[in-house]
Amino acid sequence: MLAHEPPGIALAIENAARELEDATPHAILRWALQRFAPRIVLACSFGGPTGIVALDLVMNLDPKTPVYYLDTDLLFPETYALVERIAAKYDIVPRAVRPSIGLTAQEAAFGAALWERNPDACCSLRKVEPQREFLAGYDAWITGIRRDQTTSRRQAPVVQWDEQFGLVKINPFVRWDEERIWAYVRFHDLPVNGLHERGYASIGCVPCTRAIGAGEDLRAGRWPGLGKTECGLHV
Ligand code: SF4
Repeated sequence: MLAHEPPGIALAIENAARELEDATPHAILRWALQRFAPRIVLACSFGGPTGIVALDLVMNLDPKTPVYYLDTDLLFPETYALVERIAAKYDIVPRAVRPSIGLTAQEAAFGAALWERNPDACCSLRKVEPQREFLAGYDAWITGIRRDQTTSRRQAPVVQWDEQFGLVKINPFVRWDEERIWAYVRFHDLPVNGLHERGYASIGCVPCTRAIGAGEDLRAGRWPGLGKTECGLHV
């Protein structure tokens, strides 16, 4: 783990972000894998389609690249089913990164349905802290975030130093939009989360995700009514 921003890396990241700003996700990923493998890992939520496109590109470039997802114990059956389909298709074993506290222990310590009363605390326990521990073993992680998803992601660079987790963060899809992602999915006939067929756009944990209606923002189904737009992984 790099932990603290190593001297000189800020400039190197800044240069890489500038040089790769107009590059394709394929070229960005090729650069990242050449630069960081084997200490680079792909985060895939198995919720939205961007992570699946990322996974397909990464597997084509270097099938040895590790893949993980945050298994909060609260994912949809459709999400777990997609993990299995992807595992079979690419002959990989995506790593389930789990919280150190089970749901029963969480309820005993913080009360029932913490996600309704304090979703930030719940995300911290079930997503952010497990991810922090897991990423300590790597120098770079690949994400599927896009600038069109939320206001806070609008300025996301292609490559950045991730202060929160202490490693380099690669965002190859920042310039792509939903339409382009789905075009790739259809062209390559990739498996996606079965909930998309039922009106779900962005998919996370069961208690915090709903289907969206016509004209609603793509992330409107996440933490509905709670004024929360991020789980704390991308700050
Ligand atoms: Fe908890 Fe909801 Fe965050 Fe999942 S998305 S970890 S249930 S608050």
